[in-house]
Formats: sequence, structure tokens, C-alpha cells
Amino acid sequence: MPQTVAFSRNADNVFFHILTQCNLSCSHCYINPAQHGSQRLSLDRIVAWLQVCIRRSPGANLIFLGGEPTLHPELSQAVKAASEMGYGSITIDTNGYLFHNILDRITPHQVNYISFSLDGADAATNDAIRGAGSFERCIQGIHEAKAKGFAASLIYTVSAQNIRGLTAMPDLLANLKIDHFFIQVIGLRGKSAKIGSEASASICVSRDQWISVIPTVAREAARRGIRTAYPKVYLKPDENFECAGKVANNYFIFPNGRVYRCPLCEDYSLHSLVFDNNEIKATAPINEQDLFALDIAEGCVMNKLVQPQNIDYFKNGSPKFKIACCLLKEHVEPIVAG
Ligand code: SF4
Ligand code: SF4
Repeated sequence: MPQTVAFSRNADNVFFHILTQCNLSCSHCYINPAQHGSQRLSLDRIVAWLQVCIRRSPGANLIFLGGEPTLHPELSQAVKAASEMGYGSITIDTNGYLFHNILDRITPHQVNYISFSLDGADAATNDAIRGAGSFERCIQGIHEAKAKGFAASLIYTVSAQNIRGLTAMPDLLANLKIDHFFIQVIGLRGKSAKIGSEASASICVSRDQWISVIPTVAREAARRGIRTAYPKVYLKPDENFECAGKVANNYFIFPNGRVYRCPLCEDYSLHSLVFDNNEIKATAPINEQDLFALDIAEGCVMNKLVQPQNIDYFKNGSPKFKIACCLLKEHVEPIVAG
């Protein structure tokens, strides 16, 4: 059975975008250089910001992101520095191209996971979203990582374009010896928000599709021994709504110094924290914190503002269900036979 894992006050997460440059141009990319900057952070700055974060959140989980973080020539030094600072776990998110021979410059003791992104179980599905050749290169990268002793996780971002392909993933994950599978839901931000409201709506997955496909695929992956997580998205009337912005500590850091607590705010100048040189400071209102404080019948305030098409209403105007915080996950542990 899936288990909803409540936000933990003891498991802070630092999502650190060390650059926004990327070799791919995925159709759903959430990176927005106008809001996030286009600079590459120097190693000195990365280390200084990592120190600030670990002082603020001892034992936090750290995820290196981009753009494509392996395009940063000093990523290996950043990993080494972080591994000596006391982060609870370290993950590198990659599209699989693994630039600068990153796997030869770090060790499996320094990182907990190399996390690969794939949006289809075959090249036709994946490459339609992520670009020609990206499926093959990602599979090759996973083989290289596993051969060198790294644990590998995989993220699949579900949209109307690729939800059918999801059912073929459990077999592929098992063949690739993936350790942890994350199913994501497409969010209308970055490029997905810019294509116009009609086209944006057409890539979203309906509630019926989500409920009929996602939990089954997660169970199938678990049956093959793979820990799986997926966003809860829809809350039943008796389930409690919580905003991670109020009850958890997540930091989404971008190269221009902006620090968001909510990923759905990232297309807007709503960040509640900012790095000013090497100090982290609160921004002036109005910012995302003011939105977290609002209590609405639909659940997540930012969802209602940026992607209201996923909410259904009764004739009397009340919502049929609440939308959960996008950071709330269902976890399915591996199913052990016997
Ligand atoms: S690999 Fe990631 S950062 Fe690069 S274009 Fe695709 S979604 Fe964006
Ligand atoms: S996604 Fe919604 S509920 Fe979650 S932190 Fe953002 S505003 Fe709060």
C-alpha cells in the first residue's frame, strides 16, 4: 500500500541549481533564465552558499541541479566540499550526458544517488519530449553509473504526452537495476506555462488518468524490488491539507541568488529569501510566505493561481477535492516475495 509521508521537520532539503545552462531543450523544462539567471556560479560561491545552508539546516539533503549540473567543470569539487560538511545525503540530478567525466571524479561514497531523468520507456516517447538521442545517452549513462558502483534513481515526469509509456517503465527499471523511482507530475511553469493556456492544458493529465495509472505503475515497480514515490496531487475530503512552505524546510536555490520555498512560485519574483553576497536574507512582502498563509477550500493556493484547470467543482461552487501540496509524496516500499 502506498504511504503518505508527512513533511518532516527533521529532513530539510536543499535543491541547488548551480547553473541554468543545459545541452538539451526539453519541451517541459521549468528553468526560466529571466527569473533564475543565466550565470554559472563559481566554486567559491557554491561552497559559501553550501556552508550557509548547512549552518541553517544541519543534516539537510542536498540535490545538485541545473540546467545540467555536470556541465559545471567544478561539480566534483563542489560534491567533495559538500560531502565534508555534514549533509544528510547528496544527489546529482542529470539528463545522463555526464559531462566532464564526472563519474571518474567523484566516488560512490561521496554521493547517495545519481538521479537520471527519462520521460519514456522507449526512444520514440522520450525523445519527442527531451530531444533526439537523449534516450540512448541516458540509458548509457545509467549503465556507466551502475558499473562504477553508484546507486541510481530515475525521475519520470508524467504528462498527457507520455502517460501511456509509463506502464512499460517497471520492466525497464528492473533491467537497468534502478534503486529508486520517482514519478513526477508536469507542472505549468517554465516552458510548459509559456506555450499558451490551451496548449498547456492539453499536456496536463486528468484526475481519472492519474488515479487509474500512477498507483498501479508504482506498485508494479515495487513488485520488482524498486522503492517508488509519486506526488499525491488529489486529497480526499477527510485528508488533511498542509503547505510545505509552512511546515517544512525546502530551499530551491538559483544562480541569481533567489531562494524559493515553493517550486510553483519559481516563475515569479515571489522568492522569500535571497543570497546577498554570501548571506541569506528575507525579502520584503509581498512574497510566497504571504501566499502560504492563505487558507482556501481548493487546498494549494499556488495551484489555484497557476494551474486551476486541475480543480473540479460541484454546481454549488465548492471544490470536489483539494489539491495537495506538490511536495507531498506517496511512498511505495519494495514488495518482498515470500
Ligand atoms: S535536461 Fe533538465 S534542465 Fe535540461 S532542458 Fe531538460 S528539463 Fe531543462
Ligand atoms: S505547492 Fe502549494 S502547498 Fe506546496 S508549498 Fe507551494 S503553495 Fe504551499
